Amino acid sequence: MGLFGKFVGNQCPCGSKRDLADCCGRYLDGGASAPDAEALMRSRYTAYVLKRKSYLLATWHPSTCLATLDHELEQPVKWLELTIKRHTPQDADHAEVEFVAHFKVNGQSYNLHEISRFVREGGQWLYVDGDAS
Ligand SMILES: [Zn+2]
Repeated sequence: MGLFGKFVGNQCPCGSKRDLADCCGRYLDGGASAPDAEALMRSRYTAYVLKRKSYLLATWHPSTCLATLDHELEQPVKWLELTIKRHTPQDADHAEVEFVAHFKVNGQSYNLHEISRFVREGGQWLYVDGDAS
């Protein structure tokens, strides 16, 4: 049982309707690697919700990764819901995921609609970058 065993009975923030410990928690605590880009996308959303900075940095491609997420994680963002619109594998090691993330800042509601690009290197899926609309 990993770090997230104590979250058994808590629904995963990514919207899978599974327990956190059986869903993104397995990836966040290092017990397993996300098997595809959608699973990585979900786990990164969950990491934002739980402010797991080390996981966010570890799953971000070095070519585009911010040196620090301190500023991002200090924002008073309340993440509400993740909707995966599309998961499009392009070849064995490249995929796109289109998603909408719903969040609030200071009581105001926002949607982030993004098409994100992912690459698999050394068996590990990584977030590269994305186009927000
Ligand atoms: Zn999840």
